[in-house]
Amino acid sequence: MLTIDGSLGEGGGQILRSSLSLSILTGKPVTISKIRAGRKKPGLMRQHLTAVEAAAKISNAEVTGAGIGSTELRFTPKEILPGNYHFRIGTAGSTTLVLQTVLAPLLLANSPSSVTVEGGTHNPFAPPYDFLERAYLPMLRRMGPGLTAEIERYGFYPAGGGKFTVKVEPSQQLRGLSVLERGEILHRRVVALVARLPLAIAKRECAEMEKQCNWPQSCFETGEVLSNGPGNILLMELAYENTAEVFSSNGDIGTSCEKVAKDLWGEARKFIASDIPIGPYLADQLILPCGIAASRGETSMFRTCRLTQHSTTHIELIKQFLPISVEVTPQEERSCLVTIRPAQ
Ligand code: ATP
Repeated sequence: MLTIDGSLGEGGGQILRSSLSLSILTGKPVTISKIRAGRKKPGLMRQHLTAVEAAAKISNAEVTGAGIGSTELRFTPKEILPGNYHFRIGTAGSTTLVLQTVLAPLLLANSPSSVTVEGGTHNPFAPPYDFLERAYLPMLRRMGPGLTAEIERYGFYPAGGGKFTVKVEPSQQLRGLSVLERGEILHRRVVALVARLPLAIAKRECAEMEKQCNWPQSCFETGEVLSNGPGNILLMELAYENTAEVFSSNGDIGTSCEKVAKDLWGEARKFIASDIPIGPYLADQLILPCGIAASRGETSMFRTCRLTQHSTTHIELIKQFLPISVEVTPQEERSCLVTIRPAQ
């Protein structure tokens, strides 16, 4: 039985989710202690508990100790069970993070799966659905599996109730990834969306973005989306020859539309001005599939910004499950080259 210390580095939810994915993939039972010890409210919240339940479902696992607030659980998987799944978080907790918990094992299953998740689809501090669809899944597709995603309803805090489905055509092997340059820009787009709120909010956000970016008007769109509760999200999508990024900023009561736009531009501007192909969130999330590929003999390399503590924690965790080596080579302009290869 492997024991994972959930207070490692960042001490957040990713240690739990990736431990579950890797326990299923390797067949190694795991005890996870001090779950989310680095967070203000440690232990399992609804979203994390749904991730545990989902992981148990797709692997016929035996679980002890999982409940709201639990800080320790034991997870014993049996086999990877591809199939049609529907997971409901029941709050506005992040659907994309629940999906990520079960996605890696299903990529390597012996038949296709379809996974529907209900909850929050556009949460701060988690990948918005658009990031999943346009930045993360395209990278995974390059590694071999077939993946499509479709959103049916948007889910915003606090009402939640968003819903999307991801279809997975697994592959026998995960190919290594090599992303060293961005290539030319192919497409750039800013989209401001509202649900059950005046469209004027989206228009003001777009107007502020037009001022900040100085791009042609055709790059800006507003729209109204279906959702159980009110919500507003401002998104920027950047597609290059070899990579894509999606930045987002959530509207909130008490935050002006102009501030929502300036926050988005503040983050995106730095990325646009650099020549780094892989942004910090994508780097963080690619470590898991690249680690899995490396454990099966495939080397991956990507260039990103200086690693966040989130990413270094993720690397340390994955090395506890898989026989891999990870090299992080600092490069100019606060960038680095991450190489994930089979252990020598
Ligand atoms: P907690 O740590 O409170 O348990 P959590 O369960 O959301 O929270 P974290 O460990 O913080 O877990 O992981 C959050 C994940 O969301 C990370 O993989 C991070 O890369 C991703 N993420 C956060 N913000 C964004 C964003 N704006 N775009 C894409 N991905 C994001």
